[in-house]
Amino acid sequence: MTFDVITIFPEFFRSILDHGLLKRATASGRVTIRLHDLRDYTDDRHRTVDDRPFGGGPGMVFKPEPIFRAVEALRSEAPETVFPVVLLSPQGRLLTQGVAEELSQVARLVLICGRYEGVDERVAQNLATDEISIGDFVLSGGELAAAVVMEAATRLLPGVLGNAESREQDSFAISSDAPAEVRHGLLDCPHYTRPAEFRDWKVPEVLLSGDHEQIRQWRRRQALEKTWRRRPDLLAHTPLSGAERQWLESLQCAEHEPVSRK
Ligand code: SAM
Repeated sequence: MTFDVITIFPEFFRSILDHGLLKRATASGRVTIRLHDLRDYTDDRHRTVDDRPFGGGPGMVFKPEPIFRAVEALRSEAPETVFPVVLLSPQGRLLTQGVAEELSQVARLVLICGRYEGVDERVAQNLATDEISIGDFVLSGGELAAAVVMEAATRLLPGVLGNAESREQDSFAISSDAPAEVRHGLLDCPHYTRPAEFRDWKVPEVLLSGDHEQIRQWRRRQALEKTWRRRPDLLAHTPLSGAERQWLESLQCAEHEPVSRK
């Protein structure tokens, strides 16, 4: 998979490319990350990428021309292929595990990082094929968001994670075919390691039992309960067995019983 990142701060990505998953994925050739300095696509002496907003107001806005030039240059490298052009924006569709899964299926992805007050709207309307937000908050620039998108998509590529099983157990691991934006699995179950007792806090006994079926059932219930308590919205799109539904209902009933009866 190739990521083409359009940014005014290519250096920003140095640390994530020098560490961890993205370093391994690029070193093994599974992923290629190409950083394109937006200023290389300007046509004035000062390499200007921004200008004042029409209508007045604070801040500066990214001009459309350099961004169009940059994307068109990438398209001209492979005119016969169509690839998504993603504008990172707090106004985009939310990045979820389902969206990350969807993005990980493409061979090439262009990521446009905005700055300042944002990007001339004509980029969103006429150039980008997708707008993605990494959450309902505002960052100063799209670089962190692009890094998040790359990491989330890369760890879903075959062969990138040492142990594919761990990916399947992670929070949000996909387990339904709902639309990408709402497609999630459960939150992960709790994990423990040695020592079995630490400051009087004991590891749940079932995990020490060696009974794999009991452990599997315990983990599934813990994941269900945690999800129900913290992110009940995720349960709406998670396929559950009849027994699991019943068990969740019993939890719900117990929760609503008067304290004296508990
Ligand atoms: N005025 C814009 C708004 O309120 O929608 C915010 C602009 S923000 C300060 C500058 C840039 O940071 C955006 O163009 C975008 O590329 C990036 N950005 C900020 N928050 C983001 C988020 N939650 N997800 C993705 N990108 C974000």
